[in-house]
Amino acid sequence: MVTSEAKPEKTPQEILRSAIELCADCDTCRFLMEEDCAFFPELYRLWDQETETGIPISEAELRRLAELCTLCGLCPCPRIPMDVMEAKSRYIDKEGLPVTTRLLTDVPRLARLCGTFPRLINALQSSRTVDPLLRKAAGLHPERQLPAFPEESFFQWAEKKGLTSPRQGSRNVAYFAGCTAGYLFPQIGRAVVEVLERNGVTVHVPPQQCCGMPQLVEGDRQGALKRAEANMTTLLASVQAGDDLVSSCPTCGFFMKALLKERAYYSEAYQKSVNAGADELKVPDPNKSGNAHRVLKKMMYGNILKDDGYFSSLDPMARIGVAEHLFDVGEYLARLHAEGRLDTRFSAIPGRMAYFAPCHLREQKMGRPYLELLKLIPGLTVELVGDTECCGMGGNFGFKADFHEQSLAVGRPLLEKIRKRDPQAIVTDCMSCRLQFGQSLPYPVFHPLEILARAYQSGDPNSGLS
Ligand code: SF4
Ligand code: SF4
Repeated sequence: MVTSEAKPEKTPQEILRSAIELCADCDTCRFLMEEDCAFFPELYRLWDQETETGIPISEAELRRLAELCTLCGLCPCPRIPMDVMEAKSRYIDKEGLPVTTRLLTDVPRLARLCGTFPRLINALQSSRTVDPLLRKAAGLHPERQLPAFPEESFFQWAEKKGLTSPRQGSRNVAYFAGCTAGYLFPQIGRAVVEVLERNGVTVHVPPQQCCGMPQLVEGDRQGALKRAEANMTTLLASVQAGDDLVSSCPTCGFFMKALLKERAYYSEAYQKSVNAGADELKVPDPNKSGNAHRVLKKMMYGNILKDDGYFSSLDPMARIGVAEHLFDVGEYLARLHAEGRLDTRFSAIPGRMAYFAPCHLREQKMGRPYLELLKLIPGLTVELVGDTECCGMGGNFGFKADFHEQSLAVGRPLLEKIRKRDPQAIVTDCMSCRLQFGQSLPYPVFHPLEILARAYQSGDPNSGLS
């Protein structure tokens, strides 16, 4: 499926310089992203320093700047963070990927290690002598709590339940659990199955790897492309078998629905598939549903609108195929509700929760389906909190000793807003946010699917929110 090798021509420093100059000239994100991102404040600090002193931004400063973007997607120009990712991958091409980064981004491998040597891992983690040494070697901050690997992963549970073989019902989905629900929080995967089955949906869990986002953010281009390609193959096989694709992780969804298809519509293969004329460039019209296109003059735009981005070595039609058939589970359930087919016989859950819609969900431009779904539960008050903020965790970013302070600084405004609401529990669909909230706030944190599954459980209508 890989159709060509990406051949870097610019150096990472040149790519970053271009981004800095563009953003310095525009200046919009100096104030817009002042609190919600660690990258832009540093970009403008470096630029102002260079302008005032005449001393150029150093290579080391550029290298560190690249590490500050977590690809949260909040800034207005998607090309800027993707350029930063391109620069990171070109650094890694030259420097090689540190062993610790390779291990920390490979959650399936970590889960296998923990499953094989659970006592050893627990002993290492709880040892006052060994744990600090391990953290130092891995570049982890001493105060950051590490998630535990449960004894049974969601994938093991799904296999026992017979969900890993293709199944046929009247409505079928292939569920992409991702690493967080798959290995770290299997209760979320089980809740997804429970809620979908309650609504007459047959769930299949196809073979899957990490979506590739952690590798992308760490600059491991080959690792990201390899995983994306493997997932595209199995997910498209499910689509061809008639399944819809669903994901419960907003980061996996952002990666597969938004990033993967970036620029794929400009490819020759896509243009051919929509019968574009020789002088035309047809692109989907974002303001119209269905197959509506905007037709652009190829002579004017052909040199700019090309499939030449990060994923251009992967089959563009496969990238579009996955992106267009994948739904967030919340989006899928909201669609069932709109069609009058959602089972709304929820038991009451008396209580007051704060719901945070994470950055990667917001960037999928689907509204806030979980907010509407949770409001269907009798007795439950759900308040939306932090409409524009970021939790600051940024995947592995918040774990790193070098960036712990920035992670907390970015998350602070949101954490303060939640504290002011003083809810009984927090609900969010992002597991990075869950880890940040769990460490910094005194409230239990749930995925919305866990709450919906609980509300479907009969016989315990007043189970509360402990
Ligand atoms: S990301 Fe876009 S809007 Fe923001 S400063 Fe850079 S060019 Fe301007
Ligand atoms: S993607 Fe997020 S972290 Fe990266 S520059 Fe944009 S707002 Fe900042």
